Amino acid sequence: MPISSSLEPAPAHTQVSRDFIQNMPKVELHLHLGGSYPLSYLEEISTDHDRQCLHEYLCPKRDIISYHEWFRVFDVIERVVDSESKVEEGARRLCHDLAKDGVIYVEIRTGLKDYGQGYVAYIDAVQRGIERGIKETGIQARLILSFRRNTPFDLAKLTVEEAIARKDKGVVGIDVSGDSGIGNIEPLLPLLTKAKESGLGICIHMGECVEECDQKLILDHIIPHRIGHGVHLGDDAHKIVHENKLAVEACLTSSVIAQMIAKEEHHPAIEWWKNGHPVCFSTDDPLIFQVSLTDELWKLSQMENLDKKQLVELSYDALNYSFLSKEEKESLIHKIKNYYC
Ligand SMILES: [Zn+2]
Repeated sequence: MPISSSLEPAPAHTQVSRDFIQNMPKVELHLHLGGSYPLSYLEEISTDHDRQCLHEYLCPKRDIISYHEWFRVFDVIERVVDSESKVEEGARRLCHDLAKDGVIYVEIRTGLKDYGQGYVAYIDAVQRGIERGIKETGIQARLILSFRRNTPFDLAKLTVEEAIARKDKGVVGIDVSGDSGIGNIEPLLPLLTKAKESGLGICIHMGECVEECDQKLILDHIIPHRIGHGVHLGDDAHKIVHENKLAVEACLTSSVIAQMIAKEEHHPAIEWWKNGHPVCFSTDDPLIFQVSLTDELWKLSQMENLDKKQLVELSYDALNYSFLSKEEKESLIHKIKNYYC
């Protein structure tokens, strides 16, 4: 049970400032590299046309886009970040941005790409960028490798094999992402079992759109460690997620912009968290949704009138649900304790 579950909302007069959240050591567990490169970096390396496209998509006044539509934004980003060296620099710059936002630990996820030198060279580049970011900022960061429900079997197999080979060398898990209404995951399920048996963390995007029909199929096959979003869970999946106390990665702004819910306060995970279910609040894609983890926690604290203790305990809880080892978690916990206890 999360520590925060035992706490009552704070009286209005004890509400925290945004600065308290900005400076608070935070833990980010659901963040896609492709949707998180700093905008300033993309602007530097874009053509005029792509820069214009990015601004059009990322304009704060843009209309809310449909869940399926927003995957098109990634096409522009893939056009801009199109080499191993750009990926490496992008990952490095992302670590800098996150450290500036007070993030002390992040799990960055990405699917495998081939920019001409093969998939392994891509993972190497991402890891080099992350390692440089760690060295330069002091942030701790690990990588989660993703595949989609419609990823060809051989590529999903390579993803899992690479993750296993790099376990304890910067990679901590496997993620299933992409448009959850597209593809048949059934042939890929044994790969998830293999990854879990090898000691990797497993997180699965689930409950993103109402068309999903594989929730029970997946959960009957494997109990993952964490669920991404969990907004539209069917009755069976809801029961399994709750009975097994599976941590839910709730991304409030993302859920609204991608039209999973109409308003942030409608996210079901908020109520679950208040009732003691493990939830970690995350950004999903800070670039795409133009949000930071500070923004997300600030929004939550205003909605739920959270006090300092409750906010700090969200960081403790997220660290607890991370895929770090017990010893690694212990090495970070003092940073949170020193901030507020
Ligand atoms: Zn996601």
